[in-house]
Amino acid sequence: MENIMNNLFKIIFLLSFVLSFNTIAQKTDVRVEIYDLKEDVKKLQSENQKLSNDLTTSIVKYENRILDLGAKIEDLRFEINVLKRIVEQYRNGVSSSSTTTPSSSSSQNSTSTEENISEKSESKPKYQSSSQCSATTKKGTRCSRSARSNGLCWQHGG
Ligand SMILES: [Zn+2]
Repeated sequence: MENIMNNLFKIIFLLSFVLSFNTIAQKTDVRVEIYDLKEDVKKLQSENQKLSNDLTTSIVKYENRILDLGAKIEDLRFEINVLKRIVEQYRNGVSSSSTTTPSSSSSQNSTSTEENISEKSESKPKYQSSSQCSATTKKGTRCSRSARSNGLCWQHGG
């Protein structure tokens, strides 16, 4: 009877040892799982950091692009202002020369702006030529004197 009780105690002791070992093993399993979860969290954090870095670099890139576009817009504004000035000068040239040479304005429309400037500068002596004597001198050149109402100077019968 005592032997049986002794054996029973041994079995219980062994059983309790095995059970306790099981719980220890379960605890280590849980610890490993927690460790894995922590590693996953670290990975996610590093990925998040990478993504945020990429985001900031892309934001910087876009900001640089926006700055470039702003500079280009400023350049275009400057060019537009220059073109506006040319157009205004061209309009003034047309309005001042339209009274004397209206046919030249239609031909100026088809020419480029650079030619307009040169034509405009050429149109000034044309405008002055209306008050210039239309007669020719003995040398064969045009008279440089200012004309009167009939287009001739005082020497040529004006
Ligand atoms: Zn004359």
